[in-house]
Amino acid sequence: MTSFTYAANPVRVVFGRGTLGALGDEARRLGMSRVLLVGTPRHADRAAENLGHLLAARFEDPAMHTPVDVTERALKVVAEHDVDGVVAVGGGSATGLAKVIALHTDLPQLIVPTTYAGSELTAVLGQTADGRKTTRKNPKVRPETVLYDVDLTLGLPVPLSAASGLNALAHAVEARYAPDANPMTDLLANEAVELLTSALPRIADDPSDVDARTDALRGAYLAGTCLDAVQMGLHHRLCHLLGGKFGLPHAETHAVLLPYVMAHQGLADAGDVFALTESLPIPHSLAELGLTEADIADEPEADLLREALTGARPA
Ligand code: NAD
Repeated sequence: MTSFTYAANPVRVVFGRGTLGALGDEARRLGMSRVLLVGTPRHADRAAENLGHLLAARFEDPAMHTPVDVTERALKVVAEHDVDGVVAVGGGSATGLAKVIALHTDLPQLIVPTTYAGSELTAVLGQTADGRKTTRKNPKVRPETVLYDVDLTLGLPVPLSAASGLNALAHAVEARYAPDANPMTDLLANEAVELLTSALPRIADDPSDVDARTDALRGAYLAGTCLDAVQMGLHHRLCHLLGGKFGLPHAETHAVLLPYVMAHQGLADAGDVFALTESLPIPHSLAELGLTEADIADEPEADLLREALTGARPA
């Protein structure tokens, strides 16, 4: 790499344990006084308490892959309640809804992630309409503040933790071979791979292991920063294609495909990542996600997908 371009992500990041307690202060810092809170009651109820009188309205059912009909309902709530800021608490689905609201309204966003998806750090927005997922990049959708609270991840079930952690690992792995990789993304990606590959087996052994949870969330943060900084390649293209067309679960699709794409790209640690995925309680094949030979026959990279269909060790 003799020449490169890198633009730092301007997001404000607050990371720690118990940081949800700072939610009201962080919202005020962004000038919010009438907040729309996005997120299922499991996490959003505590956030609502912390927001107190700043809370103007709630939207409790964000959906995966940001379907346009859900967005339209949420935009109505924004207009009805004269909202001046969006707080999202949850996984990538809650974050996606906040981002699409910002795209339409330019409202500031404060995101509290409870999975390892990494969407909170990116200017990327995926949306689905009529079974097709489209992705765009627009700085308007990049959240202003991300508040990471390790405590909120302690209850993330092991299968979801593993799949979501592998989703984060995929961001870092793809950043390593991106055509626009640079010294900063190399550093971030390598550290993210170390943290995530070490943390996921420890979480599978003991989901309440705070050190492992901290490592995984730090890894997800670094991996999400990579995702924002470079072009994503084959792995993300295939996941988006299959996710949109067959309504597959996002993190699990990443988890299944990652070792196969790595082997296809000739990456030396593809075997290690396959062994890691085999050791975790996640789906291990596209067949387990409900796909059949007929579904993938006409897709690009059908040979790679055929291997992933069976879950056999990648060649
Ligand atoms: P998700 O947000 O749909 O969450 C998965 C499930 O986990 C949900 O049922 C949720 O309620 C539950 N959950 C979340 N946190 C929990 C916790 N701490 N404890 C218990 N349950 C919890 O899934 P996801 O994998 O986080 O995100 C996927 C979505 O994010 C997709 O729509 C994907 O396209 C998007 N995404 C976008 C980007 C981007 O940069 N644009 C990056 C990654 C993911």
